[in-house]
Amino acid sequence: MNVADDKTIVKDYFNSTGFDRWKRIYGDGEVNKVQLDIRNGHQQTVDKVINWLQADGNLAQLSICDAGCGVGSLSIPLAESGAKVYASDISEMMVGEAKERAASIFGNNDNPSFDVQDLAALSGKYHTVICLDVLIHYPVNEASTMISHLCSLAESRIILSFAPKTFALSLLKKIGSFFPGASKATRAYLHREADVVKVLSANGFTVKRSSMTKTRFYFSRLLEATR
Ligand code: SAM
Repeated sequence: MNVADDKTIVKDYFNSTGFDRWKRIYGDGEVNKVQLDIRNGHQQTVDKVINWLQADGNLAQLSICDAGCGVGSLSIPLAESGAKVYASDISEMMVGEAKERAASIFGNNDNPSFDVQDLAALSGKYHTVICLDVLIHYPVNEASTMISHLCSLAESRIILSFAPKTFALSLLKKIGSFFPGASKATRAYLHREADVVKVLSANGFTVKRSSMTKTRFYFSRLLEATR
């Protein structure tokens, strides 16, 4: 399958069954046990990023690109903390939901700004580029191109999270829980941390902070790398 095919599948998924599923997981309504576990795991990743950035004490001076922003789970609290957030996602449904959630908090405000955009088509320069839990949708050979592109947008820092290859067996067993039923068409890809670090380093970035979030059904390695 080529890159365009992978993207079309991911985009269609997040505009249909994936949208319904992930909007619920990334919400606060009732969900099943597996979804609740994933919700809690994902929230831990989001909280870690916010804690790192708040600890630096300069959030209000930062421009942040949230690539693959989903329903705004990270963009919204970052904007609440004073950062200027440029959020985008390949799925117009996810962006529509993110806009609604932001409007219910900020009213008519352009921060965060939301765009429907494939991250490969993003341009501009941002102090920090963040891409959480997106690489799981792309095979290793596509991930390195995507990471390199995100690096080219980042003046100082890039923050990425991905499902690490180390947990392959346990994760593979659970893939049915990630993408149940018809939506199994969307595969989950694992990435070796060493491969990701290599791409970051080839683009001039060094890992400064790192954290692993692991619940029963959610696995995510979080890396912060700076120039
Ligand atoms: N980053 C968000 C978060 O952590 O809350 C959302 C994570 S969700 C599992 C993955 C998101 O990546 C979906 O909203 C999907 O539409 C988006 N996505 C997948 N491929 C993308 C691409 N090539 N460019 C932009 N967004 C993409």
